[in-house]
Amino acid sequence: MELETYNIPVNIGFSVPVRTNRDSSPDGTIVNVNGVKIGGNEVVIIAGPCAIENNEQVYETAKAVKQGGARIMRGGAFKPRTSPYSFQGLGEEGLKIMRRISNETGLPIVTEVLDTRHMEMVADYADMIQIGSRNMHNYPLLKEAGLVNKPILLKRGMMATIEEFLLAAEYILNQGNTQVVLCERGIRTFETTTRNTLDLNAVPILKKLTHLPVIVDPSHGTGIRWIVPPMAKAAIASGADGLIIEVHYKPDTALSDGKQSLYPDEFQQLMSELKKMAPAIGRKLSLP
Ligand code: PEP
Ligand code: MN
Repeated sequence: MELETYNIPVNIGFSVPVRTNRDSSPDGTIVNVNGVKIGGNEVVIIAGPCAIENNEQVYETAKAVKQGGARIMRGGAFKPRTSPYSFQGLGEEGLKIMRRISNETGLPIVTEVLDTRHMEMVADYADMIQIGSRNMHNYPLLKEAGLVNKPILLKRGMMATIEEFLLAAEYILNQGNTQVVLCERGIRTFETTTRNTLDLNAVPILKKLTHLPVIVDPSHGTGIRWIVPPMAKAAIASGADGLIIEVHYKPDTALSDGKQSLYPDEFQQLMSELKKMAPAIGRKLSLP
């Protein structure tokens, strides 16, 4: 996207906090995830299962997403489940599985932290730390993330305004960590056909107001497998710097979010389409 786009004055009705404000870093921040750069001209794809379930699942899924061209692998070891009776994740055991497979495949990993007490432990295993939608308003956790020496993936709260999202990022930046990527993952609206309403308006707005890279999660944004590829393409068209997509080697057996997880062949098909699409808007797909 042309830089001039960001210089058009806009009346947004609130003032952008000072550290996230694009004025504080007009060229844009590049976030480096163990060598993979998010925020430049290249569009970075993060892919992997919703939750870490076992060694085979992570290994087979990692191989498939790597083959498709993903640069970073995702997977949760601490899962923020709506029901306390749902699979809660493998905890530290899951982090160990992920780290081992990251070392084997060479794919850096992003994984979620739920609790300030786990920040150091998660930072020891992960290349990037995710703060999920439910925790975007957890200010002690945001402050901890600002003190850690790892890049942060901050997801938009499902009921958060863009202003609240920027203020959450400001909490992290305020503590000194400027390696923050923002993620639009859908918001709650009156519409119930999809799990959330993917707010792609947020992408150009965030890109204009802040210097932080912006990625999109079309998996949680839709909740429905077949809607993920079209919305992934729409996200890139809207100017996103990357995508985070749930992929599972056997979605029908997944312990969480199987219905929105792509099969490996669907992911590979999407990647080949994105590769052709990105140059039409002056971008390039980041490939290994
Ligand atoms: C996730 O990405 O694993 C997740 C739980 O997403 P969100 O926080 O956006 O609901
Ligand atoms: Mn999920």
